[in-house]
Parts: sequence; C-alpha cells; structure tokens
Amino acid sequence: MGGLVEAEWYDVRRAQSGKPATYTCPFCPRKLPAFSEHVLIRPLGRGDGRRHAHMACVARAREQGRLPSREEWLRTQRQARRRSRGGLFARLFGRR
Ligand SMILES: [Zn+2]
Repeated sequence: MGGLVEAEWYDVRRAQSGKPATYTCPFCPRKLPAFSEHVLIRPLGRGDGRRHAHMACVARAREQGRLPSREEWLRTQRQARRRSRGGLFARLFGRR
C-alpha cells in the first residue's frame, strides 16, 4: 500500500474542507483537492499517519479487504481466540 501506514485497523470518515490544499491519494497517482468530497483514513484512529483518499479508491480497497475497520479487526481477534481455544480443547480431549 503506497503511502499508507500498515495498521491492524483504520478509522475511515468522510472529509471535505475549504482549505486550498491538494493531497496525494495513497491508492492512486491522481491528486485530490481538499474541497472535493473525499475520505480521511486514520490508522488505529490516530492522527499521525492519516491520509486523504478518493472515495472510489477507498471503496475498492475496502472490497479487497485492505482497509479493515476496528469492528472487523475485533471480530477477527475473537475468531482467532476461539480457534486457539478450540485447538487446546481438541488436544486435551479430542481425537487420539
Ligand atoms: Zn485515489
């Protein structure tokens, strides 16, 4: 992911401002003017490492599973815990 910080989950919200700024989308080489409706991505919900991205690019990244939300990440953590518990249970009482 060019320009985007690796993180377990991302806070993603709509953004738009009157600033005379131009951002570089982390998903494509096109420029992104601040006044256009776009998306602000914050790794782990923190301000450092935040990126402005096109809505379409974010939608595509989400479809590809590249931008998990906090809820999605928590769900995978719970699933992993359940799997490891199941593994221990199987070792203790399961098939021989
Ligand atoms: Zn883009």
